[in-house]
Amino acid sequence: MTTYRPSWAEIDVDAVRSNVALLCRLVAPSRLCAVVKADGYGHGSVEVARAALAGGAAMLAVALVEEAITLREAGIMAPVLLLAEAPPDALGALCASGATPTVYSEPGIALAAGVAAYLGHPVAVHLKVDTGMHRVGADAADVPALAGRITASGSLTLGGLWTHFAVADDPDDAFTAEQIVRFETVVAATRAAGCRPELVHAANSAGAIAHPRSRYDLVRCGITCYGHAPSPAVGKVLGGLVGPDEGLRPVLALKSRVHCVRRLAAGERTSYGRTYELSEDADVADVPLGYADGVRRQLGPAGGEVLINGRRRRIAGTVTMDQLLIDCGAERDVRPGDEVVLLGRQGAEEITAEEWAERLGTIVYEVLCGIGSRVPRLAV
Ligand SMILES: *Cc1c(COP(=O)(O)O)cnc(C)c1O
Repeated sequence: MTTYRPSWAEIDVDAVRSNVALLCRLVAPSRLCAVVKADGYGHGSVEVARAALAGGAAMLAVALVEEAITLREAGIMAPVLLLAEAPPDALGALCASGATPTVYSEPGIALAAGVAAYLGHPVAVHLKVDTGMHRVGADAADVPALAGRITASGSLTLGGLWTHFAVADDPDDAFTAEQIVRFETVVAATRAAGCRPELVHAANSAGAIAHPRSRYDLVRCGITCYGHAPSPAVGKVLGGLVGPDEGLRPVLALKSRVHCVRRLAAGERTSYGRTYELSEDADVADVPLGYADGVRRQLGPAGGEVLINGRRRRIAGTVTMDQLLIDCGAERDVRPGDEVVLLGRQGAEEITAEEWAERLGTIVYEVLCGIGSRVPRLAV
């Protein structure tokens, strides 16, 4: 559809390729699975998947069957791993698309075996073990038996055995080492039971960077592909591992243009709730992006800023559903049509998703996934 509102997200696909290539070098000889769930963390899963494969990713991962099918419909035929058991009525569509199911229950395995028998070709499944996250996955004690059911089914193969970390983003938390011990014990028990998983994997971005031991055959990286460390602490660890000019490059920039500007007197208050007071006579600009687009309502009161003409300017009051207001100060240097950068660079200045996350008391993941579907993504 033609877009008329001058608000958009720029997606730097070359930055995805470069981030993935950097991660591949870091974890080699382990391979990299690029996690493109949630529409590629809000960046557009198809564009990101293509760039990640170009950068050296060996596999893709998604959360929903729908997301796997979207990749296939775009002609992407690389291996795609589903990160949880598929809803029973979706398993046929998933296997027919050639994506790889995750399994962790007896009914899930029986169903997958039936689907594979019906399709008439073997289906590789990845068996997920819960080592302490307590989200999804089989209990460790059940894994050798479940692996046995897979290999004995006649229609399934054990494509992988994997787990997921709960606190790898905090490199000082000893629980990741505990999860690694539990996981390696399960892997050994599974092998002792005569089942050989093709791929053993555990690490998310934080594990891949801060816990090299957990790289095994494959790492599942999401946030780092998009150019962000999982946490400031893991960002520091990465800084110590790669060269000074080698770091991750943020992929998404959020931009708009000034709609209108009005002059207001000192003491006037702006937006819903009238929480922001002008300290001097100032120009106030209206920008056509709001919380329906993922610019959280509290970003203004939390001190959020944007860039116009290369300078930082305060968001003036609460962000509304479709618009936000900017205190442009006493100088009359902002005009309708001027570019507004909410996330990204302008001149020498940059506003990062990390800055938003800090102000909003959240993590960069939520900032990026929150950019609404109303904002067109433009590959640049
Ligand atoms: C989302 C997800 C990942 C990717 O995590 P990042 O921290 O973004 O690298 C890896 N594994 C599983 C199971 C996930 O759900």
